[in-house]
Amino acid sequence: MIKKWIGAITDDNRNIRERILVLMASIAMVSMLVVLLLGYIIGENATDIITIAVTLVIFLLIAYLSIKYDRLDIGGKIAGCLIVFVVLPVTFITGGGLYGGAPLWVLFCTVFIALVITGRFAAFLLISDAVIMAAAYAFTYTHPELVEERSKTTIYADSLVSLIIACGLVILMIRYQMRIYDSEAEKSKKRQDEIKALNDSQNRFFSGMSHEIRTPINTIIGLNEMILREEISPEVAMDAQNIQAASKMLLHTINDILDMSKIESGQMRLAPVTYKTGDMLSDIVNMIWKSSQDKGLIFTVNVSPDLPSELRGDDMRIKQILINVLNNAVKYTKEGSVSLSIDCEKKSNNEVKVIYSISDTGMGIKKENIPYLFTAFKRVDEDKNRFIEGTGLGLSIVKQLVDIMNGRITVNSVYTKGSTFIIEIPQQIVSDGVIGQYDIGMSQSTGKYKDKYAVSFVAPEASVLVVDDNSSNRIVISKLLRDTRMQVDVAESGAKALAKTLEKKYNIILMDHMMPEMDGIECMHKIRTQAGGYNKESIIVALTANVGTDLKQMYEREGFDGYLIKPISGKELEAAVSGMLPKELVTRMDNDSDVVDSSMEWLVYREKKRPVAITTESVADLPKSLAEKYNIAILPHKVRTGDGIFMDGEEVETRGLLAYMANLENRAETIAPSVEEHEEFFARQLETASNIIHISISGEVRNSGYHAALEAAKAFDNVSVVDTGHLSSGQGIMTLEACRMAADGYDLSEIIERMEEIRGKVRTSFVLDNLDYMARAGQLSSAAARFIRAFMIHPVVALIKGEMKVRNIYMGTRKQTWKKYIESVLSGFALIDKEMVFVTYVGLTGKDLEYIGQILKENAEFENVYFVKASPAIAVNCGPGTFGILYRLKD
Ligand code: ADP
Repeated sequence: MIKKWIGAITDDNRNIRERILVLMASIAMVSMLVVLLLGYIIGENATDIITIAVTLVIFLLIAYLSIKYDRLDIGGKIAGCLIVFVVLPVTFITGGGLYGGAPLWVLFCTVFIALVITGRFAAFLLISDAVIMAAAYAFTYTHPELVEERSKTTIYADSLVSLIIACGLVILMIRYQMRIYDSEAEKSKKRQDEIKALNDSQNRFFSGMSHEIRTPINTIIGLNEMILREEISPEVAMDAQNIQAASKMLLHTINDILDMSKIESGQMRLAPVTYKTGDMLSDIVNMIWKSSQDKGLIFTVNVSPDLPSELRGDDMRIKQILINVLNNAVKYTKEGSVSLSIDCEKKSNNEVKVIYSISDTGMGIKKENIPYLFTAFKRVDEDKNRFIEGTGLGLSIVKQLVDIMNGRITVNSVYTKGSTFIIEIPQQIVSDGVIGQYDIGMSQSTGKYKDKYAVSFVAPEASVLVVDDNSSNRIVISKLLRDTRMQVDVAESGAKALAKTLEKKYNIILMDHMMPEMDGIECMHKIRTQAGGYNKESIIVALTANVGTDLKQMYEREGFDGYLIKPISGKELEAAVSGMLPKELVTRMDNDSDVVDSSMEWLVYREKKRPVAITTESVADLPKSLAEKYNIAILPHKVRTGDGIFMDGEEVETRGLLAYMANLENRAETIAPSVEEHEEFFARQLETASNIIHISISGEVRNSGYHAALEAAKAFDNVSVVDTGHLSSGQGIMTLEACRMAADGYDLSEIIERMEEIRGKVRTSFVLDNLDYMARAGQLSSAAARFIRAFMIHPVVALIKGEMKVRNIYMGTRKQTWKKYIESVLSGFALIDKEMVFVTYVGLTGKDLEYIGQILKENAEFENVYFVKASPAIAVNCGPGTFGILYRLKD
């Protein structure tokens, strides 16, 4: 037990508080034992001795049990309670109150509790402590006679001894805690160092492994390409193409693993350069065109003509992101199309947000899977796509790269129909030029690959030296350059290369980096300064299996003229070499006409997407003119009648519905669109808008589309649903406000915030002719409706907690009622926003409206008065002869 006790103090794995608790408890018990013995020796009174002895035994028992059962937390709490509720008040009163050492013990115990007990229980004990001690002070103040009379010497001696012991204990406690903290800090630093070392070695391992794997893949891909260039049987060609695809897949996976390890160790750095957007796009098109064509997919690119022609950023990484997402689009689409659109939003004079949207008509992603899309090694919907190759790493890397660039990636997808990935990346603008339409046309001149290889240039006068210690690499590079008819020499080491550069002048030297004895960098420096050498000015290019964003700069800094990565295809090598050779040595082969996709059918120009579009349901009461002006997309509800289900607005109009409802036997109700209908609607709207704010009627209303909209929006990162908290009429007013803001260029969050703000400011109510329609809709008993009609009672209804409730009643003729209603709703006119008012009505004649307009004018001056036909929802619930005055309060 003693071992366990000591262990509870010294065990590093224990919580610091628990260790202090046991230490202090041990010291307190030893002190009590000493006091007990001293008291006994000097003949202290028996009650004191017994009190101390009982306390000691109780604490000993608590400590013993809590250590034995490893429940120090509970032991601490019980001990804390005993101290606060029993020991402190009793010692204070029996120990002479203020006159003695008791206040010092109160202080000590309070510090002790604060240090070792945590959470709400500590707060409870400390507050109780304060209250009890205040009571003890009050008690000893008012009843001094009950406090033991003590001599001056005893008071002084008691106070001094308590001071010394309490100070000693506080110092001990704090020092002990500091020591533990120091040792913890040291341990954590050591652990961090270990993790860093592990990370470094993991990184070294990955990059070493990547180098080692790239070297043989270079041979496989290179020699395989040579096979493909030969006249071979279709069967051999098919095998060779499969080898090519498999090697590329392997290479892709290695690159992903390398990137992932870099990102995880925080070593992923961007390498910003100035790049031509047209070049970047044509590279991307080149890579995707072929694969989409092979699958029979239509691939289109849509570039906003105002995209700056030159930007600064890490174009390689942006390409990586886009190619990854585009490859997925092709991979997960069986038929239809894949498209890439590029839009831009200027943020300032020198910054632009480039928005890339990649859409496909593929298998789509289930709503519940969207949150896991960017998780590393996570492949979703595996039963469906298990035959599609993949590691689940791609999108995770994409997301992290986008994050490093301070960008954003969002997904909108309809399962089984297709997906759209939107990537927004801020970039710096370098010049005023824009890409226009011409540039793109030019830049695609490298176009689509032809299936059969054809050399792009010949240069029999040019000479190249390939320096590589690996013989396969030397063979591959020489063979890849064979058809260019250049003179290719090889050297297997730095020393051999130096011998050759003494003999001959080369136009280009392709230099491996990692070589035994003399590496490529050293060899390059030696060539540059070689006494009597012919190649001091020659172009020297690093051709290596080392990959990394910072390597390009490193090679440049060292003095290389270029950096090429192994494995390299014949086409890439030719493109790089021909660009570096003196023009007079190069004869271009006119292969372009059959290499280029001259139809340019991949390039389409679409209108720029709107940043934010406002959409709503057909139940919104919106004046047609404004709905058209703001181009508001409206999702129709359906109206169910005895004759079938009709699409609101398209197949059934309010007027027709009212005619139908004139027959008292007939019933009608509106049905909100389903989740799937919402999904399709959102997907369609996102074709022309980057973001959507969908404004719905109150989610509390029975037939509201809010819940279906919210569910559907889970599949769309770029759709936000706003619950207006109102019926159709309030929904109309809020929709208009949102539209106005969107037209004025406010962004998504500002509009949504504004909706929250004005929700409580919209006022809607309707005055009804009678309650017959409400009774028919089952919201009221028909007897009550008959009574109301008989007594010419006209109710005013409003939406209260999701239900249409009668808020007021007027008696009299229609016109008297309308006048009273209008006067009453406009009585607080000073607070109403004068900009507009809606008069939403059901089944009123032109004359009726004229009368209403006139009364309205007499009572208030609005800038715009809109007469709006109410939605079928209001029509079927309220019946003809209904109208409402709807407005917004001032801000
Ligand atoms: P993988 O290597 O599996 O393609 P990713 O990280 O690129 O890994 O993608 C993760 C998962 O996301 C994929 O397994 C696939 O289920 C899904 N996914 C990605 N893009 C699409 C898309 N355009 N259409 C449908 N599903 C997709």
